[in-house]
Amino acid sequence: MFNNPRTSTRYSKSLILLLILLLVGTWYVRERNRYEQEGYLLASSLEADLVYQCQTAARTYGLDWSLLVSFYLQTRRKATTEEIMNQAAVIKESASEIQFFEKIFDEHELKLMLHHARQIKRFGYYFSPQYVFPVQSKQLTYKNTWGADRDSGKRKHQGTDIFAKQSTPILSITAGRIEKLGWNQLGGKRVGIRDIHGNYLYYAHLSDYRNDLSKGDSVLSGEIIGYMGDTGNAEGTPDHLHLGIMTHEGQWINPYQFLLYWNKYSKKSGAD
Ligand SMILES: [Zn+2]
Repeated sequence: MFNNPRTSTRYSKSLILLLILLLVGTWYVRERNRYEQEGYLLASSLEADLVYQCQTAARTYGLDWSLLVSFYLQTRRKATTEEIMNQAAVIKESASEIQFFEKIFDEHELKLMLHHARQIKRFGYYFSPQYVFPVQSKQLTYKNTWGADRDSGKRKHQGTDIFAKQSTPILSITAGRIEKLGWNQLGGKRVGIRDIHGNYLYYAHLSDYRNDLSKGDSVLSGEIIGYMGDTGNAEGTPDHLHLGIMTHEGQWINPYQFLLYWNKYSKKSGAD
């Protein structure tokens, strides 16, 4: 069939075209993943309260909340609710938001600010209604212990520990699919859920999982997946949930600010 030289040339051309498409496709996927991961890293470094205050002020004045967050990220990172409200009012008086920012930032700064705003809005976990804080209890504590030494400095802590009474139900933060369910040495009884963004949420040290769950099952946000305990390397320590979030690129990110946000500002489940 390819003995005809013209057909053969056409065949080679198609092959080269296919190869180019494949290369461009691979490059695109890699770039997109890198961009998304950068977005999560940025979003996890924001303060939950600042994000919420900016969202509230932006809603009041009909502005884009991600621009307001990005503005504070670039200028001072912290402000009171009143200051943010006043700032939003000033921005509203300009002909457009961009025009206001053009006045205070040079071209490079403005570009960076817009880039960050896009990332915060698209890839952050800061959209209140769809996430649920995983432990609904009046007596819970958690601190930002990201990066703290573990095993005498051999490991760093890559998550947030949420302490509450034994057997307190653990709820899935996000909708997703159960990818891991079972035992591992460090985590003890643990559940791993892949969420709709492709991120992996890791719930460890459970006293038990919900007994009708299986790998591959879909779960909704707020659904009970297990119960608080001290299994794995947490044995003998106060009962707690170790919550970790890994991006689909395989990098653990600090869940603390997201947890604060979900706890303070997201919907509560029916549980106590
Ligand atoms: Zn932990």
